Amino acid sequence: AERLPKPERTRIITVSNQKGGVGKTTTAVNLAAALARQGARVLVIDLDPQGNASTALGVEHRADTPSVYDVIINDMDLASVVQSSPEFGSLFCVPATIHLAGAEIELVSLVAREQRLSRALSLHLKTMTDPYDYVFIDCPPSLGLLTINAFVAAKEVLIPIQCEYYALEGLSQLLKNIELIEKHLNPELTVSTILLTMYDSRTNLANQVAQDVRDHFPNQVLSTLIPRSVRVSEAPSYGQSVISYDLNSAGSLSYLEAAAEIARRGAPQTGER
Ligand code: ADP
Ligand code: MG
Repeated sequence: AERLPKPERTRIITVSNQKGGVGKTTTAVNLAAALARQGARVLVIDLDPQGNASTALGVEHRADTPSVYDVIINDMDLASVVQSSPEFGSLFCVPATIHLAGAEIELVSLVAREQRLSRALSLHLKTMTDPYDYVFIDCPPSLGLLTINAFVAAKEVLIPIQCEYYALEGLSQLLKNIELIEKHLNPELTVSTILLTMYDSRTNLANQVAQDVRDHFPNQVLSTLIPRSVRVSEAPSYGQSVISYDLNSAGSLSYLEAAAEIARRGAPQTGER
């Protein structure tokens, strides 16, 4: 596997879009695996009560498994809930369990309710001897307190956009929310990356959507597109990323290339948009 340039500091990237089914989890998991395969140390934090990222990475997330819920609500150390992925020695996951479904409500009455993940993650990174190169946070499809916690903990936002009808619908709402977070809670937050997913080159619509998004966000859109591929959608049921499940499939190769692009571009300069 290709060796990629390592970031100087841990890049914390939240994968977000308030629409469901646009490829957030698939992207978080497969970019993480792609970077791990190419030599990086990577942590995935599953912040969606559905626990799809935990499933896809093959880590335990039964109701009694220590999870991100315990970190956010019960002040448990992040280090004590991190699990190793069975796929790559340098890939780790903080799982989500069913308890996280209640966290959105429980958070409301807690102090520092927007900063809980950020504080736990900073503490974890500070006390590590061999810190991660990348942390990906997989968000639920909403703009509630869990997603706000992800925005406050991260420096970068990666928005996956599905190459279909209404792709851009809701995007301005998302960007407005990110601006509000930047203004009030996390001045370092930047939309660094947009990734076009589930692309089908045979349809005019997909090509049109891809062109539209490139016109609107010329600096953020990766040149790599993720094709619609059965192998990508099959992999999670084996508890694997597509990188392990079928390394040479089109989906795997595109995630490896997208990961390489993210690594080569490096962290955004502060203030760059
Ligand atoms: P989200 O996390 O935004 O809800 P997912 O990553 O779970 O979205 O993807 C939604 C569905 O689409 C899942 O069933 C997933 O397997 C499938 N999917 C995602 N990306 C692709 C792709 N490139 N090709 C085929 N199916 C995909
Ligand atoms: Mg998801």
